[in-house]
Amino acid sequence: MQVLLESILDEVRPLLGQGQVANYIPALADVDPCQLGIAMLGTDGTLYQAGDADTPFSIQSISKVFGLVQAISHAGETLWERLGHEPSGQAFNSLVQLEFEQGRPRNPFINAGALVIADINQSRYAAPILSMRDLVRRLTDNPHIISDTAVADSEYQHRARNASMAYLMQSFGNFHNDVEAVLKSYFHHCALTASCVDLVRGVSFLANNGRCLHGDETILTPRQTQQVNAIMATSGLYDEAGNFAYRVGLPGKSGVGGGIVAVVPGRYSLCVWSPALNASGNSLVGMIVLERLSEHLGWSVFSPILS
Ligand code: GLU
Repeated sequence: MQVLLESILDEVRPLLGQGQVANYIPALADVDPCQLGIAMLGTDGTLYQAGDADTPFSIQSISKVFGLVQAISHAGETLWERLGHEPSGQAFNSLVQLEFEQGRPRNPFINAGALVIADINQSRYAAPILSMRDLVRRLTDNPHIISDTAVADSEYQHRARNASMAYLMQSFGNFHNDVEAVLKSYFHHCALTASCVDLVRGVSFLANNGRCLHGDETILTPRQTQQVNAIMATSGLYDEAGNFAYRVGLPGKSGVGGGIVAVVPGRYSLCVWSPALNASGNSLVGMIVLERLSEHLGWSVFSPILS
């Protein structure tokens, strides 16, 4: 497996430099686009890593998985009164659908949906920024995880689109807390920094029926785990979720920091990171790495038999 990871990274390295880092968040625009890392954690605890797998990066929308998990843990099924679990077919920051659908976001993995989740969590936690940081520390088993305040501040200064979504939802009665306070929480969640190795631990419960590999803690029930994986498979890569299902065939979640986490249910959690993005806002080289790996190992959940 180690040899396979190294050889896939060597194969795709010539592509580094294609794509664009997320420059709509100025603090992310300075990241070296030629970095590339991958980590894989088996449900038997075996860790594989290659390239820049220990380098922390801005997890951005990967935090939407953790926000959803936090909301499920205290709100359960009631959260679906506020948003759906259907793919959107729109860009992650689109406002169009929200107006048509009376302020009810399609799913928790587009920005509007993640903002509603952040609003739900804001109602529950006295210190939402710290509660999320602590959840991610616990899940990754890394007490040093922090939010990069320069990135969070930069996002807050450039919040026009996210603020527009939140105020639009408020106008439909689907936003209960102070919009600016929720935006600050949301940006701090997006600005958490973690490495591929941290993140494979962080989402290991999704490959392991809801139980964390370290500490043996139950994070979600098996049924909730399937449901989160299903939403990742249908909505985890913005309006490119269909392409990801076609090319990779695994539940996944990307972020504009260039990370993508993916899950081989019952077997592995994965994280690949390369900061330059394709036109849909997903890591250009990261997608190719996961495609090669999944193809090579016959991992698509749409395969007749998992090899
Ligand atoms: N913080 C980013 C935003 O709200 C997250 C986007 C992403 O990673 O998809 O625009």
